[in-house]
Amino acid sequence: MDFSFTEEQTLIASSLREFASAELLPHYARHDRTGTFPRDVWQKMAGMGLFGLRVPEAYGGQEFDCITAGLAIEEAARGDFNLCYGILNSSFAGDLLGRHASEAIRNDWLRPMAAGERILSVCLTEPQGGSDAANIRTRAERRGDHYVLNGEKSSITLLMAGDAGIVFARTDPGAGAKGVSAFLVPFDSPGIARQPYQDMGAKCIVRGSMFLNDVVVPAENMIGPENGAFGPVMQTFEYTRALIGLMCIGATMQTLEETIAYARDRTAFGQPISKNQGVSFPVAEWWGRLTMARWHCYRTLWLRHQNLPHNAEAAVCKGMIPEICMGALQDCLILHGHYGYTQDFPVEQRLRDVAGQLIADGTPQICKIVIARQLFGREST
Ligand SMILES: Cc1cc2nc3c(=O)[nH]c(=O)nc-3n(C[C@H](O)[C@H](O)[C@H](O)COP(=O)(O)OP(=O)(O)OC[C@H]3O[C@@H](n4cnc5c(N)ncnc54)[C@H](O)[C@@H]3O)c2cc1C
Repeated sequence: MDFSFTEEQTLIASSLREFASAELLPHYARHDRTGTFPRDVWQKMAGMGLFGLRVPEAYGGQEFDCITAGLAIEEAARGDFNLCYGILNSSFAGDLLGRHASEAIRNDWLRPMAAGERILSVCLTEPQGGSDAANIRTRAERRGDHYVLNGEKSSITLLMAGDAGIVFARTDPGAGAKGVSAFLVPFDSPGIARQPYQDMGAKCIVRGSMFLNDVVVPAENMIGPENGAFGPVMQTFEYTRALIGLMCIGATMQTLEETIAYARDRTAFGQPISKNQGVSFPVAEWWGRLTMARWHCYRTLWLRHQNLPHNAEAAVCKGMIPEICMGALQDCLILHGHYGYTQDFPVEQRLRDVAGQLIADGTPQICKIVIARQLFGREST
């Protein structure tokens, strides 16, 4: 057993911590207030290699191992939780396209994505329900050398800033999860309309709904085999779920450290409030829980790196860690007193932003179903 990071991983993490503190954190609140997507900061993140973490070097990426990717998202989330959705999306796309897309698609999309020039969205959820992810109604019908897509996708991160979506559509109406295919669909294709949401948090990465009306997609834009997209997408979720855990932990650890600084400085009854165990103990407890959670994420990524099963472990990362982080953030807000409730400190924004990850990529209930299936067996759950 070896819990140490390599020298290279430690160097990458420390340079990203400096980057997050100097280039991301000072602008985190501004993007929330304007609700606009910051292309300038995006380019700086691309310059740090954050959108090509798992993209093969041959396509302009860093080709890092999963553990290094975890360190990168954890550190970046200390500066700007919301822009980490870009890291998540590009990790998802890098993993899925890197393994399953044609050479042409990889060339056209992975390199510009890693360079921050093109943004990819993941379009799985539909209006009738996201938890029952295999119940996809968007249709893709083959006509000669192309497919025609019709349907609606909802809750798509980075939809309004994005250039294309990895769209999951039904190619076999009677086959459930075994009748779903994935397509690379440029958002400027005729027949696509997009509509933004007004979200409580993560405002600058603007989620939205996409409507597909007779959208023609060349057959070579299919990712992986026809009717075979569902398995690969679930395997990719096992990776991004661990990243999400670390993204939430990065933002929450940062808040915990800000709270420690605040509690050392703030006085009440003639002494720093940190002298009260009512203040220091919740911080100590959350630090303990976050530390346990953090190592669980790295173990999950280590299992993936070793090609060992990690389905339930990834579901723990996604299903439980955002809840732990929400509890920690709420206590941090209380420890800031009334200032915590203002927009003068980032804690209220982190509470709103991290809340989105209670739901995205599988709710706590869905993740518990995944864990229970492993513990009890599929036939007993
Ligand atoms: C910030 C954010 C970003 C997102 N980004 C994307 C994206 O980029 N691409 C994308 O495709 N989707 C995205 N999503 C959508 C997300 O994946 C879905 O919202 C999620 O899977 C839940 O689906 P739903 O919202 O339709 O809820 P539903 O499936 O309708 O579920 C509603 C409630 O019922 C519960 N429930 C459902 N079935 C069961 C069951 N069998 N047992 C117990 N409880 C159950 C759920 O846990 C939930 O609490 C994002 C969501 C958010 C909030």
